[in-house]
Amino acid sequence: MAQVQLKEVEKKYGSLRVVHGIDLDIAHGEFVVLVGPSGCGKSTTLRMIAGLEKISGGEVYIGDALVNDLPPRSRNISMVFQNYALYPHMTVRENLGFTLKIAKKSQDEIDAAVHEAATILSLSDYLDRRPAELSGGQRQRVAMGRAIVRHPDVFLFDEPLSNLDAKLRAQMRVEIKKLHQKIKTTIIYVTHDQVEAMTLADRIVIMRDGHIEQQGTPLEVFENPVNTFVATFIGSPP
Ligand code: ADP
Ligand code: MG
Repeated sequence: MAQVQLKEVEKKYGSLRVVHGIDLDIAHGEFVVLVGPSGCGKSTTLRMIAGLEKISGGEVYIGDALVNDLPPRSRNISMVFQNYALYPHMTVRENLGFTLKIAKKSQDEIDAAVHEAATILSLSDYLDRRPAELSGGQRQRVAMGRAIVRHPDVFLFDEPLSNLDAKLRAQMRVEIKKLHQKIKTTIIYVTHDQVEAMTLADRIVIMRDGHIEQQGTPLEVFENPVNTFVATFIGSPP
């Protein structure tokens, strides 16, 4: 059974159709990367899965439930954005525990979840610091930790590394891959960066002008691009 399934999903803003005909079957534990040029509809697609954007047509399933009309909080999904805002006045511990506190979890549950996330993300030594006292990479790990503590069924990432410099981006790619190997949660990851897509993905989904141009393993797509657009975008040899 698919963990996330999109059938003929479409998004319109007024008469402008920005995403159409999206069919996707994502298995439990799979790491799927949506990649494509700026404006091709990656974020819109992700936001429709999260429930942050209403779909104009088609169906979105999570588990076996049709979630078209479910609000984000009922989808058991966590999302990490590009412009992750940590609460500057809170410690790392408080930042990590905050959503659980809002959800009225007990302090014991919060402590256990924070401890687990900090261990997974190597943040245990930084729990009493505030965001200003952390490096960019550590801050990004806290942002991921805030998503992990909720034990989501599905993780959505929208260009989480694009504000980092090249060196840190390369490090964080490795960290995200390790994170996936540890928690084995389904990940849907959006980027415009081909290298990021090729290194992270179990399956790569190449989008163009609001639709899926091709999907497959990175190797399949690299070796058998369906057209010049994909070949050029992925950098396949001629
Ligand atoms: P990507 O994430 O691939 O860069 P987006 O999903 O953000 O692309 O945007 C896809 C298209 O939808 C773009 O042409 C964008 O201008 C348009 N778009 C996004 N949000 C809105 C909105 N709220 N109103 C109108 N058009 C939008
Ligand atoms: Mg985007």
